[in-house]
Amino acid sequence: MPRILIVEDESRLRSSICRTLDETSHVAVAAGSLAEAARQLTVEIDLIILDLMLPDGSGLEWLAALRAAGDRRPVLILTARDSVSDRVAGLDSGADDYLIKPFSLEELLARIRALLRRTVDLVTNQLQLGSVTVDLLNRIASRDGQPLHLQNRQFELLVFLMRHPNQVVTREMIAREVWKESTATWTNVIEVHVNQLRKQLDGPGRPPILHTVRGQGYLMGDPP
Ligand code: CA
Repeated sequence: MPRILIVEDESRLRSSICRTLDETSHVAVAAGSLAEAARQLTVEIDLIILDLMLPDGSGLEWLAALRAAGDRRPVLILTARDSVSDRVAGLDSGADDYLIKPFSLEELLARIRALLRRTVDLVTNQLQLGSVTVDLLNRIASRDGQPLHLQNRQFELLVFLMRHPNQVVTREMIAREVWKESTATWTNVIEVHVNQLRKQLDGPGRPPILHTVRGQGYLMGDPP
């Protein structure tokens, strides 16, 4: 089931969105502020619904930072402000779609379905990159049909890399998104997990798919 993060400080609206999602085969994860959103934004989240005016800051700025960090997950913004410039600003900040309040929950669901179709194969709940397949529902990863034996953290690391295909991800991004910690002290831990993941992924006789980009980070997919 797709996991959706709802960042909205109006509690009644937040609850009704959550209820609707739960009733329609989604997993709703709620956040009432940007700080909470940052905590709840795990690698398993497939889509983000984002209000723009939040008690601890601007949803637009948060979104811009997310995009600057390379996060490409679909974001649907909710805004009460019905002006062209706000909508343009939203799309410029990296939103994939927007809805103007008040909106019908039915329309929200339709937009969510459309956005999710672009990213995850909803029938199978799978991510695919080259010969690597990740089954998000059953938490199974495989390469060339051969199952990979991964610990939780390595699985999450793989999901994160698969969601940033052919793109350099830095250790800082990994620390923040997978470990939910900030940077430096985690570099070695990340390296160890990347190496273990690589051992599973790029076993003997397989062309490497998880690359180290010197001085920058890692890249999964076609070598740079
Ligand atoms: Ca608000």
